[in-house]
Formats: sequence, C-alpha cells, structure tokens
Amino acid sequence: MVEFDHVMKSANTRTCDIAIIGAGVFGSWTAHHLRLAGKSVVLIDGFGAASSRASSGGESRVIRCGYGADEIYSRFAQKSLGQWKDLGHRVGSELFHRTGVLWLARQSDGRIQATADVLARLSIPHEKLNRAELEKRFPQFFFGDVDWGVYEPDSGALMARRSVQMLVHEMVECGMDLVTDPVVPPSTKSRMESVQTAGGQTISAGAFVFACGPWLRKIFPDELGRRIFPTRQEIFFFGVPAGERRFAIPAMPCWLDAGDLYGIPDLENRGLKIGCDVHGSAIDPDSADRLILEESLAAMRKRLGERFPAMKGAPLLESRVCQYENSSNGDFLLDKHPSIDGVWLAGGGSGHGFKHGPAVGEYLVGRILGTQAAEPRFSFAGKGTAQERSVY
Ligand SMILES: Cc1cc2nc3c(=O)[nH]c(=O)nc-3n(C[C@H](O)[C@H](O)[C@H](O)COP(=O)(O)OP(=O)(O)OC[C@H]3O[C@@H](n4cnc5c(N)ncnc54)[C@H](O)[C@@H]3O)c2cc1C
Repeated sequence: MVEFDHVMKSANTRTCDIAIIGAGVFGSWTAHHLRLAGKSVVLIDGFGAASSRASSGGESRVIRCGYGADEIYSRFAQKSLGQWKDLGHRVGSELFHRTGVLWLARQSDGRIQATADVLARLSIPHEKLNRAELEKRFPQFFFGDVDWGVYEPDSGALMARRSVQMLVHEMVECGMDLVTDPVVPPSTKSRMESVQTAGGQTISAGAFVFACGPWLRKIFPDELGRRIFPTRQEIFFFGVPAGERRFAIPAMPCWLDAGDLYGIPDLENRGLKIGCDVHGSAIDPDSADRLILEESLAAMRKRLGERFPAMKGAPLLESRVCQYENSSNGDFLLDKHPSIDGVWLAGGGSGHGFKHGPAVGEYLVGRILGTQAAEPRFSFAGKGTAQERSVY
C-alpha cells in the first residue's frame, strides 16, 4: 500500500505525475498500480467511482479464466484473480465469491473445447463433465440440448461496485487525490499539458489516462466515435423460493452459455441473477433511463423457467440496465492516443472487462513507464469501425 502522494495543489489547480480520467474498474486499478510504482496520481470522475451510470457500477460480475482460444485473456484473468483476493483481504470485505463457473456446451462446440485446452495448458483447475455428470452435480438445471460442460472450481463472482469503491476508498485513505467533477473534452490536437473540469479546475500532469468506458467516444469523437459501440444490456434478479438453497453458494455456480444467457447465484440474498450476452441497441450512458422493457422481462422469465424449472413464475426482485462499451471485435483498447502526445486510452471492455481490471492496470502502467511491450490486440490501430465480435 502506498501511503504518500506528491500532488501539488492550489485553489483550483493540481499538478501530478499522472491524471486518470474515469474511476471505473480500468481507471481505478491503473491508479493503484501507478501509485505502487511511486507516481503521484489524481483520479477524476464526473459521477464518482463506479456510479450507477458506469459499466463498473453493477452489483456483481463473473470472473472466469476460460476464453476459448484467446489465451491472453485467460492469463489476464488468472493474474487478476489473485489481486482481487488480495484487495478483499486488505479491506476486510468478501469481494470475491468462489462459486465455481460452469460452461455449457454442445457436441460440436469448438470454443468450449479450446477453453478446456487453454485451461489445461495454463494449469488452471477445471473439469470436463458429461451430461450424466452435469445432471448429478447440478440438479437445479434443466440441461435441454446441452451435451457437456467445463467447470472451473476456483473461479466465481466479484461484487463489482463494492470492489471498485473500496479500492478507491483505500487509495484516498492513503492520500490519493479524488476529484468528482467531469473533465471537459480537450481541444488540444498535439501535446496535452492539462485538463479542465466543468467546475473550473485545472489538472496538469506529465501524462493522462482516459479510462472513460462508453464515454470515450464522446471525448474523442474523431478517433473513437466510430470505434466504441455502447450497447444497452438488461440484467434481472429473480426471487428464489423461501428456504431454497439450491440457487445459492455452494450448490449453485456462475454459469455461461457463450454468446447467449449467463447467470450468477443468489449472492448476499439479492436473488438469482440472469442476463443475456447478445448485444442490445445503442445507448447514451448520460441520458438513458434505466428501465427494462416489459417484453424482455416476459422473454427472460420464460427462459429462466426453462433452464431452472423450480424458478418458473418467480417474481422479479430487481433489474438493471447497463451498457457494454464494445470495441469492434471485443479486444480491449489500451494504447497511446494516435495523435495527442501524453494521452493514453483505456477502454473497450466489451462486456467482459471487469474481471481483468488488475491486469489491465498493470499492463497500462508498464506501457506508460516503458517497461511493457505493446500487445497488438490492445492497439488503437487494430480497432475497426464495424462490429464483428470474436472475443467472448
Ligand atoms: C450488464 C453487464 C454485465 C457484465 N458482466 C461482466 C462479467 O460478468 N464479467 C466481466 O468481467 N465483465 C462484465 N461486464 C463488463 C465490465 O463491467 C466492463 O467491461 C467494465 O466495468 C468497464 O470498466 P471501465 O472502467 O472501462 O468503464 P466504466 O466503469 O464505465 O468507467 C468509466 C468512468 O469514466 C467516467 N467518465 C466518463 N467521462 C468522464 C469525464 N468527461 N470526466 C470524468 N469522468 C468521466 C464515468 O463516470 C465512469 O465512472 C459487464 C458489463 C455489463 C454492462
């Protein structure tokens, strides 16, 4: 833990080594790793850390290591899991629930076979379960056309909003400067020396990290207006029958049917969470009302009852509308701005970024300090203007 900071302050100005715009999961872990490297940081967010508008503001997020053949994300998740657990121990809160994660697969499902192959190569504990084993281990599921599955016993769920807010709180307690004021989109086209906030503050720094998730396209419309696609995603929490423990830990795992439905057990008595991973319609994160559609509720209730017969007709306890901030194919954007010196871009979480916050922060800090080679998959140059999703 870093217990000092050397931010210079006067009435409306601050000067630091690195300013980070965006206190979601990417910005907050980047701040953490910069501070570990001895850098002074100002963290700025217009709505505060992991707000209800931010992609990181949800209740819970799945952390799994399986990523088909995309081993880079398996490695990132493996590395991040340890750091999430360390954070939970430091702040004295159960931020990670080891529920296990179950992948549902069909006979011809090459992606799940590739998942199992990568997990084996990285020595990440997992089991391949046939249909009979699935039914025995997870009797609360109706498996329908599912033939087999992969189970990651050490993966699970992160309490998302709480984790980010506790990380930020920990840094603030140790002297980090947190500014709650939106940064005005910059006008400079060459080198950035400072940013201005809507409230009239000036923050000068040696470098700036814009970790603004779905807002990136508004801040840099020329470069990212057609490269980040925020989509509207709905989440449902259904009430389990009183006294029923089959939908809670340790009986119930997180589960995924890649590219379709996924779910999280009844954590902290909130209800059984279920969502659909298919991209929704375009959304504006500033102005959108966060109300689910009646037809979506009816469709999800039907599918819930099909997958979990004991949940047929269950009441909706809570719902959320959040946004994915998709890159063209689902790869992250972690790179220098293509033309403005001193500016770094961090985004493109694409519906799977939360779990990777610690590894993303570490990677970016390595890039900023010049100790980390650039990964082509995270480059600005690799981001297209048409959506062709390939990372799940
Ligand atoms: C429904 C849903 C389910 C998901 N499920 C999973 C999952 O199971 N597992 C997983 O790993 N990932 C999941 N994700 C993806 C994950 O939540 C996101 O990839 C991640 O939270 C993105 O974090 P971020 O820091 O990039 O962006 P955000 O969390 O959106 O943070 C961006 C921040 O920038 C701030 N900001 C923007 N503009 C400005 C400005 N001008 N000035 C100051 N501040 C500004 C915003 O206020 C915001 O706080 C899911 C996402 C959704 C929506």
